[in-house]
Amino acid sequence: MIAVFGHLNPDTDAITAALVYANLLRRQGEAATAYRLGELNFETVFVLKEAGVEAPELLGQLPAGHAVALVDHNESSQSLPGLKTLNVTHVVDHHRLGDLETSQPATLRFEPLGCTATILLRLHLEANLPVEPLDARLLLSAVLSDTLHFRSPTTTPADREAAAFLAQVAGIPDVTAYAMSMFAAKSDLGDTPASALLKMDYKVFVLGDQTWGIGVIETTNPGYVFGRQAELLSAMSAEKAASGLNGVLLSVVDILQETNRTLVPGDSEAGVVQAVFGAAAQGHVADLGGRISRKKQIVPALEAHFSR
Ligand code: MG
Ligand code: MG
Ligand code: MG
Repeated sequence: MIAVFGHLNPDTDAITAALVYANLLRRQGEAATAYRLGELNFETVFVLKEAGVEAPELLGQLPAGHAVALVDHNESSQSLPGLKTLNVTHVVDHHRLGDLETSQPATLRFEPLGCTATILLRLHLEANLPVEPLDARLLLSAVLSDTLHFRSPTTTPADREAAAFLAQVAGIPDVTAYAMSMFAAKSDLGDTPASALLKMDYKVFVLGDQTWGIGVIETTNPGYVFGRQAELLSAMSAEKAASGLNGVLLSVVDILQETNRTLVPGDSEAGVVQAVFGAAAQGHVADLGGRISRKKQIVPALEAHFSR
């Protein structure tokens, strides 16, 4: 059996890609099961509930050599602990190639598109397999989530075309209304503890000789997040110490205004943010302007800075 899963602190793409790719592999004759590597965020809970789909099971440790398929990630720092002891048989991803190693020849599909879902649609078309309506709904949700309804600079024409096609198959006539309901669910953070808010959309990156944790909160209600700024800053400092990181950042992305104001817990982060983005932190907040994509506008600039 191939265990199919997306990254730690899963987002909608990580969860739906695992479900849909496991189904596609089964339809192609492989034994495959979807799993998740963490708790669902509020947007993904909404998406699965609307679709009437159960969340994939939480994955525990796997025995050495077990077959795994990675979706929506490939870096070991974002994956199941002990990944290097496992047999990576497949990867479908739209991120930078990190430290991926395979023990056998593997099926790898990387494309610089806005979403793993867009690649998964291509895999269906190439295999001459129709996308099942439920899978189309899941894939559409992922495209809308990852591209922030086509606002993110990661969006490509292929993502827009995929969404239009998937909406038809899924029977979702008003994509804008559906996207807004997803973002409302994502922004309704309730009394979630600050440490959990930090980790909701959080990834660890090896950048040159440094290791940084970078979280993002995409929201239609940034006022709520900044109302909890003090708690979030202490959660960030605690995480930095607990995980021995060189720096921690938390970007608060206003989905509708397309702006990024990033929480900066300490002087070392403030210095790096000033050097890399030319943004001076004031009261632990740095205005990163329209840089709303961690993948395209934050991580590469930090990587260039630390690799110099
Ligand atoms: Mg993701
Ligand atoms: Mg993705
Ligand atoms: Mg995202």
